Formats: sequence, C-alpha cells, structure tokens
Amino acid sequence: MLQLPVYLDNNATTPCDPRVVAAMLPYFTETFGNAASRSHPFGWAAEEAVDYAREQVARLIGAEPKEMVFTSGATEAVNLALKGVYEMYAGKGNHIITALTEHKAVLDTCRHLEKMGARITWLPVNAEGLIDLQELEAAITPQTILISLMYANNETGVIYPVQAISEIARKHDVLFMSDATQAVGKVPVDVNNDGIDLLTLSAHKLYGPKGAGALYVRRRSPRVRLTAQIDGGGHERGMRSGTLNVPGIVGLGKAAELCMEEMTTDTARILPLRNQLEQALLELELSFLNGSRQHRLPHTCNLSFKYVESEALMMGFNKKIALSSGSACTSASLEPSHVLKAMGLSDELAYASLRFGLGRFTTAGQIAFTIRTITEAVTQLRNTSPIWEMYKDGVDLG
Ligand SMILES: *Cc1c(COP(=O)(O)O)cnc(C)c1O
Repeated sequence: MLQLPVYLDNNATTPCDPRVVAAMLPYFTETFGNAASRSHPFGWAAEEAVDYAREQVARLIGAEPKEMVFTSGATEAVNLALKGVYEMYAGKGNHIITALTEHKAVLDTCRHLEKMGARITWLPVNAEGLIDLQELEAAITPQTILISLMYANNETGVIYPVQAISEIARKHDVLFMSDATQAVGKVPVDVNNDGIDLLTLSAHKLYGPKGAGALYVRRRSPRVRLTAQIDGGGHERGMRSGTLNVPGIVGLGKAAELCMEEMTTDTARILPLRNQLEQALLELELSFLNGSRQHRLPHTCNLSFKYVESEALMMGFNKKIALSSGSACTSASLEPSHVLKAMGLSDELAYASLRFGLGRFTTAGQIAFTIRTITEAVTQLRNTSPIWEMYKDGVDLG
C-alpha cells in the first residue's frame, strides 16, 4: 500500500537516512563531550568524531579536511563567504558578480552588502536559466573581488557551467564561490576539477540532519582568507566560533559518505523515474518544462501547466502529494518565483508551475500515483475553467 502523502519536495529538505540517525545517536548521550575540551576523554572523543566527519565531507567534494569550516547550514556558510570576502578583500575592491536566479541566501546577503557599499552586478539568465559567459567576463573590473554563482539551481535543477566560470575567474584573478547546496551528493562535485575557491553545502539536502552544513575555503593557489562573522573562542581556525554541533556534524559526515558510495546507484534509479514523470506530464496539452533539459540535476523537474494555477492545483489533489509551487520557494510569500521570472516566464506561467524533487526514498509506485493524480487534477481544473473553454473555442487570449 502506498503511504500518503507522497513526498516530492526533496529540494526543500530531505528526510534523514536512518543510517545517518544511527551514526548520530551516541553523540547525544554517551559521547556528549565538547569538541573543544582538550583536558579529558569526553572532549577527545568528540573531537575525534568531528575530525572523522571533516574527512568524510572533504572527500565528497575533493577537498582537504583542513579546508572545511562547519556551520549551521548553507545560509550561514553563504553569509560567511560573501561577507567574509567582502571585508577581507576591501583593499582590493568592492565589486561582486552574481545572478538573478541565486538562492535567497545569496541574493539577500548581496543586497545587504550593497547597502554597506558593495557594487553588485546581477547577471540575467536566458530562457533556459543559464548565464551568458561573455557577459560574465565583460562585467569583471579591477575592483571585482568575487564571482558568486550557484552550482545547480534549487527550483529548476539547472546546472551552471562551473568549470568555464572558474576559468574566467582565474584568468582575471577573481575568487569564485559556488553555492553547491543542491548539487553536492547528487552529482560529482570536485573543488579542484571545478576550480572553486569557496563552496557551500548543507546536511539536510543530502539525507543528513537540519542545522548542519559547511563552507569549503581553499587553502592553496590561491589561499582564501575570510573575516570571521561570528567571534568568540576561535573555533574552526578562527573562521566560525561557537561550540560545534557534534551530533549534527557526525550526521553530515555519515550523509556525505553515503552519498559518495551511493550517488551512482541513486541516480541510476531516480533519473528514469524523473524522466517517466516528466514525459507523462508533458503529454498534457500546453505543459512546459522550465529550465535547460540537458544541463540539469537528475532528481529535479519544474513544469508549468498553462491556465492552471499551481495553488489551486495543489488544493485539487488535496495534499496527497507534497511539492512546491512556483509561487516562491519560501512559501510564506505568494510572489511568483524570482527564478522563473528571471527566465522570462510570464506571471501566469510562473504561477502555473510545480517543482518536483525526487530523492533516495522515492519509489516507482509513488511516481505512478503522482502521474495519475496530477493528470486528473489538471484535466479537472481545466474542464471547469472558462479561460480553458475560451482557449478550446479558439478565442485569442494573447
Ligand atoms: C537549501 C538551500 C540553501 C539554504 O540551506 P540551509 O542549510 O537550509 O540554510 C542555500 N542554497 C541553496 C541552493 C539551497 O537549496
């Protein structure tokens, strides 16, 4: 029997893998020490667990353990990277380049820096959600200190040409930071191959716990320096003070190790399910795929069904399927998604979009149910819609 509701919002958060929970549990009770306590075995055991997790996380992205700074998640890591670089490299310049389709963590931090005196270039994207590399290079000035472009978009799954971006950054001696929160654990990411200087990731997007994440900070060629944003105690080599979340970090480490081992088999299973879902729903009249078909995460698809409001659609299937609509990823606001708008979608099509995020625990039965349910709900809503009737009667609605 299929258990309802079906969870297809893995880009918002993933469930914790039971193996991750099992690895974390002892660190709440028996091994509860403070990793900074140097004077007794409780502290040593906690420190050893953190060191091990640091290796596990570093390995997943091809980094050295010393290059990882543990944080409370990707939002904090993004804040540390952007604000830390802005303050540290003030002597070189105040210019940061980013794109309109970034996650709110990057957009809002850049807006904050803009108020503090930074000059921000907000690159546009094309209909596929991709930036123009020539436009990126042309935006660089002698004052440019950082390019911040995500690895993969959380709403559309579109993967950026990270290696080409890093080549441009290197050529002009500009640091490159990538919010890789959606990509890490889902597709191969390697900070050296990809030429990334700063990278953010989050445990709860890769089957680990909420409240744990990390910032990768390159130590060699070039050595990246940051101004700390949280002071006190000098933890994490002075870059992020505060008692370490040992259970969370152990969970992040275990989650990273499992992704490393199972990424290939997970993708081999999830990609056909995603494609099956996508193909079936694109058979509906006037339905569209949002974002590049080719350069995309294997577990994500974002679709618009013209003349069907996604909020009404979600009510239509009565909370039997958990997913996100194109009315902002922070479902608190009902603005049309800034990502879809930047790609040139009309408000109407942006409001008609659904984001499907599959994951390690998605089953073929759930996908079959989703195809049936959404097809029925779209058809039913259109059958009772005067606008749909006009469209079918050939009335020009343009
Ligand atoms: C989820 C997400 C974040 C924020 O991560 P938290 O750990 O929840 O703070 C940042 N960027 C992207 C692309 C995300 O998907």
